[in-house]
Amino acid sequence: MWFLLRLRPGRRSRKTPVRYSARGIREFALLGASLTGLGIMPAVYLAFHFPRLADYPVVPALSYLGIAADLACLWLFHRTHRDLGHNWSVSLDLRERHTLVTTGVYGLVRHPMYAGFWLMALAQVLLLPNWVAGPAGLVGFGILFFGRIGREEAMMMTAFGDEYRDYMRRTARVVPWVY
Ligand code: SAH
Repeated sequence: MWFLLRLRPGRRSRKTPVRYSARGIREFALLGASLTGLGIMPAVYLAFHFPRLADYPVVPALSYLGIAADLACLWLFHRTHRDLGHNWSVSLDLRERHTLVTTGVYGLVRHPMYAGFWLMALAQVLLLPNWVAGPAGLVGFGILFFGRIGREEAMMMTAFGDEYRDYMRRTARVVPWVY
């Protein structure tokens, strides 16, 4: 569902040319870590039941919480793509006519899409009763998040100056009023 949700906004934003990009080998590695933890490891677990040795018994209450976290994640992805519009990129890019979005879910926190990924990773822990495949998403996305966030904010400060600095003063990164 996440992939389907992304198809249309992805096609739309790709029509807007990139005017500056901070992509490179480092970004490539960070995206690879996230894809491995959130995509490949759970897919391998579901397809081949590997690593079976790390299984633990299902706790139904945790599974229901996991479904709730995944639904919240999908809602956030829908909202963030609507609010970001043509400004969205899978990596660190600034597009032609890039505007700073500070309204909608971007009025609550500066990185609501990454908040969505944290929820997706949390849902993976709750839904996969396996000590390896479950936490893999938290590790993989954690590597992307902490490896990227400082550079993304520095890029936005260079592009938007005081407008972004004011926005930083008003908002938290991921959890409103907390972090
Ligand atoms: N970190 C944001 C966006 C992730 S998509 C979030 O978690 O919601 C990454 C791209 O979004 C970056 O290339 C950057 O150019 C752009 N971006 C990040 N914050 C933005 C904002 N407030 N307004 C417009 N573009 C933004």
